[in-house]
Amino acid sequence: MANVKEIINLIVGGVNKKEEELINKAYEFAKKTHEDQKRLSGEPYFIHPFETAKILAKFGMDTQTIAAGLLHDTLEDTKITEEEIKKEFADDILFLIKGVTKLGTLKYRGHERHVESLRKFFVAMANDLRVVIIKFADRLHNLRTLQFVLEEKRRRIAVESIEVYAPLANRLGMGKLKGDMEDAAFPYAYPEEYKQIEEIIKGKKTYYEKYLTEVSEELKKELQKNKIKFIEINYRIKHKYSLYKKLLRYDMDIEKIYDIVALRIVVDTIEDCYRVLGIIHSIWNPLPGRIKDYIAVPKPNGYRSIHTTIFTGLGGVAEIQIRTKEMHAEAAYGIAAHFAYKEQGGKKIQDDKNKFKWIEELKELKYFPDDPKKFIDHLKMDFFKDRIFIFTPKGDVIDMPEDSTPLDFAYSIHSDIGNHTFGAKINNKMSQLFTKLKNGDIVEIVTKKDSRPSSKWLEYVKTTIAKKHIRSYLEKNSLLTRLKSFGRS
Ligand code: MN
Repeated sequence: MANVKEIINLIVGGVNKKEEELINKAYEFAKKTHEDQKRLSGEPYFIHPFETAKILAKFGMDTQTIAAGLLHDTLEDTKITEEEIKKEFADDILFLIKGVTKLGTLKYRGHERHVESLRKFFVAMANDLRVVIIKFADRLHNLRTLQFVLEEKRRRIAVESIEVYAPLANRLGMGKLKGDMEDAAFPYAYPEEYKQIEEIIKGKKTYYEKYLTEVSEELKKELQKNKIKFIEINYRIKHKYSLYKKLLRYDMDIEKIYDIVALRIVVDTIEDCYRVLGIIHSIWNPLPGRIKDYIAVPKPNGYRSIHTTIFTGLGGVAEIQIRTKEMHAEAAYGIAAHFAYKEQGGKKIQDDKNKFKWIEELKELKYFPDDPKKFIDHLKMDFFKDRIFIFTPKGDVIDMPEDSTPLDFAYSIHSDIGNHTFGAKINNKMSQLFTKLKNGDIVEIVTKKDSRPSSKWLEYVKTTIAKKHIRSYLEKNSLLTRLKSFGRS
């Protein structure tokens, strides 16, 4: 059964008396409020906010956020009023709970609604990022108890989490959360594919573990010899869903994936990171083109680390990631990691502001919450990693996979438009039909009645829907041609 100590013990950096009191109070309040409610699993409802709070504590969130996590469903599902919460807790906490309630569920039902829910999300995020983080924790626990939900709803929630929540978490640098959400949703969203990945991993896991242990033993010796202090050396296995996505890009050929497992070395300073890289390369040969310095050039979501892939000499290759303790926390918890560091003085907060400047910029949204054009301008930034947003001249948004062309765009609007595409204007300039579109492009399709698909189109389109329509057109057409020439002879 739940116990408040479980939450308190997880809080990063411990708690003072006042903070402990707050957690205790929120715990008792939520427990009492949800007293008569049950989850679909048959468990007391309170288990849900309790687990949500635990996830928040693990992220390193502050005690106010954890308390709000305990209380996050009290306004929506019970008779408790805002006044009652306001009386018992600070305004800040009421604000967070209201924020989570307002956010509701983010549903993925076609791109139009998708954009609408994203807009809600952005606004919430710009007001107080913690609202969104509570929502993430709430969703993660719901995903972990999905087996009790009805089949149809289950799949919808799972797909939604993969399409909407996980990319957002990733954009905030919350890599662990992104991976956890995707992996919890994966078996329900794509059961067949999940089974396939399970099989692939099963065959490889022990093999990888064995040689990584050998590499790590050798490395430890070398580091000691060179008097480099390391905080930890461990390895991680790639999250299942991201492995699946990567396999899709490599013809499902597992031999082409080098980072199924990766060795991680955590050291004290940035200088040590580079020294460790030098030592690694002096022992093992690096794979050309696989050395990535995300310390000098961080990823857009703030991720920092040095990656290299080496020939192990044991017949295999292994990816090694080198980072400091701080980078390690950031890589897992992203923006949430900064809440834990907050107390170490004003400098830290300033750094965050620069790193997540785009969030600050989103605050402008508050002033134009109902102006879709303004919102679309904001969306032009590269928000989702492998999706791009393309706009019609009227400002409608179509989200498409990276490398899509105007032809894909035409088919995503309507097969009739696709089949009669004659030309395309990208940002008001006539362009090739095979140009790769960029995020935020405005595309206008020019159609002509006697324009027809050609087999060449198949080489350039990216989406399955476009391929399907072109193929079916060509098949019908070649049959007709053959019939006609048959008739003539
Ligand atoms: Mn909830």
